[in-house]
Amino acid sequence: MMTKQNLKWLLCGITTVAIAAAPGAWPMLAQDETSTKSAAEEPPYKPKTKRELQRQLTPLQFEVTQNEGTEPAFKNRYWNNKKKGVYKCIVCDRPLFTSNTKYKSGTGWPSFYTPYKSGNVAYRKDNKFFYTRIEVHCSRCEAHLGHVFDDGPKPSGKRYCMNSAAMKFIEDRAAKKTASDEKKPEQIQK
Ligand SMILES: [Zn+2]
Repeated sequence: MMTKQNLKWLLCGITTVAIAAAPGAWPMLAQDETSTKSAAEEPPYKPKTKRELQRQLTPLQFEVTQNEGTEPAFKNRYWNNKKKGVYKCIVCDRPLFTSNTKYKSGTGWPSFYTPYKSGNVAYRKDNKFFYTRIEVHCSRCEAHLGHVFDDGPKPSGKRYCMNSAAMKFIEDRAAKKTASDEKKPEQIQK
């Protein structure tokens, strides 16, 4: 049966073919200069061996980040996470996305319309299927994160379709505190 989800993926595929066919339509295929700046703000990262990664990561996290796997839709940690905070790389801690640019895509995967910083993610063409997709990976440790499609909301028009397993969410405690403070007057009125 053709569900709404299937239709969306089919449409995404068609859109992506159009992107791949238009030369120069995807200007961000390489890292840009901001990656150097963001790397300088982070502690140095020493690449890990396969054995170290297997120890650090769960089997799903390893499969997604190292073998370009995809976790199940709707059965993953962050697809419906509405808390304020930053999503970091599960392997190297580089900040990848924030809750400010997360939106409800209806796909069952955490979706964002733009990365934390453009240089914190990098791109490559993925030709695994019969059409070309744009794969998104961490620009520091090269962990596979997901794919980016051209059917996102304004202002970017992009949909970064990510795997929860490739990221760790760090809640913004200040935002949480402010939200709970705002509730206090309401409680007093009761
Ligand atoms: Zn990383």
